[in-house]
Amino acid sequence: MKKAIDAHVHLSERKDDLLRRYGDLNGLEYTLEELLHEMQKYGVAHGLLLSPPTAPGGIVTNEEVFSLCRRSRGMLSPVVTVEPTVEEVKAALRLAEEQRKAVKGFKVRLGYVDASADSRVFADLYDYAEAEGTPVLFHTGDTATRDGDLAKSHPLVLDSLANRRESLTIVICHFGNPWMQDTAELIYKHPNVYADISGLTTGGGPYGKKLTGLLATKLSEAVYYAGGGEKILFGTDYPVTRHAEALEIVRMMDVDESDKERILWRNAQGVFRL
Ligand SMILES: [Zn+2]
Repeated sequence: MKKAIDAHVHLSERKDDLLRRYGDLNGLEYTLEELLHEMQKYGVAHGLLLSPPTAPGGIVTNEEVFSLCRRSRGMLSPVVTVEPTVEEVKAALRLAEEQRKAVKGFKVRLGYVDASADSRVFADLYDYAEAEGTPVLFHTGDTATRDGDLAKSHPLVLDSLANRRESLTIVICHFGNPWMQDTAELIYKHPNVYADISGLTTGGGPYGKKLTGLLATKLSEAVYYAGGGEKILFGTDYPVTRHAEALEIVRMMDVDESDKERILWRNAQGVFRL
């Protein structure tokens, strides 16, 4: 595999970053230098950086995400995380306006925050994203914390939003895992809905290899359902999944090389205008 774009990366330098434990689990240092080194080693040309969660219920600020991107020697671009309050939506849109060239997307943390994808609080965000053609990434599926709200992070909650907003580019993060067939239906049904395959494995374990094979099978089925690999985006969710493991899932998929190339970088290049 020659090249990849990572549509889903996390990083911070804060002690209370909740993803630190995944770094430990994977034997990663979880630093900017390590991340850039891993990217180079595995041929990942570019990554989209998203704010990680902090204890309790918070997130690393978008400002810190921007600052890390500025130190990344051009390898990382920021995605602005938008929390569900009027003030936060306003602040996110202000930041996107100021940093128009840098911002590659918005992120909504379904399942972690007390709001649904259809909440009115996001209306201005969706209006702006539609007008600017900026994708909105939604956390979906399993939550990293025990008290997440799965009814809010189930991928099918995005069907009504996609119905109402035809020109909003929606990215379903983590392929809705474990509701991957539902996600396959959504990317098949809606022209503007995509899904990333980040964060699907972590820490190996006794069934690590079998799980990688199972995920490769399920994602291949999604390509068959959709009639092609145009809607799937590669991602690691670093530090949740190691680069080697995330790439191994794509390598094991039973699809044409041209579709693997789409999944690894071509689709992301188009969706995020990289
Ligand atoms: Zn993530």
